[in-house]
Amino acid sequence: MIKSQTQKSVAKLTENMYELWDQEIILNKKLEIFNMVKESHDPDFYINGIEDRYSRKYLAMLRLSTHPLKIEIGRYHNISRQNRTCDYCNLNAIENEIHFMTCCTLYSNIRNKLYQELNGIGNSNWLSCDSDEKILCYLLQPRDIQTAKLVIAYIKSCLETRKKQLQITFPV
Ligand SMILES: [Zn+2]
Repeated sequence: MIKSQTQKSVAKLTENMYELWDQEIILNKKLEIFNMVKESHDPDFYINGIEDRYSRKYLAMLRLSTHPLKIEIGRYHNISRQNRTCDYCNLNAIENEIHFMTCCTLYSNIRNKLYQELNGIGNSNWLSCDSDEKILCYLLQPRDIQTAKLVIAYIKSCLETRKKQLQITFPV
């Protein structure tokens, strides 16, 4: 009897916590990408699938918008959202997560390599991605270790390329 009541209380508390979580995420503009990528309340595969904390952080920073992209940095410099354009290509697009991960031409070579490798794995969810948004969701929500490692290496390589380009464009 006591056990049953405890289980009911825990279930109710969990339900309340998830409701609050969902409301907070929807209202928090900064968590726009997380809201788009996160499909359930369960821990995501990469949290336990990738043991190395340092590697996991690359995925986490894109999912939680704690990256150095202009969409985020511009916020601290009071640059209006539409003016947070990418300094690394000629697309005149806002440097946000979608642009960084799927469009920016600075990373075309690295991205082509990633896409070829993902094509090689041949996951049907990957092969059916028909928009930049779906590609972003697939990349930021890896469900197997091979994909997770490829995406982490991709993000790391793109950020290193971006940093090098920044040093060339704005030498200290
Ligand atoms: Zn760009």
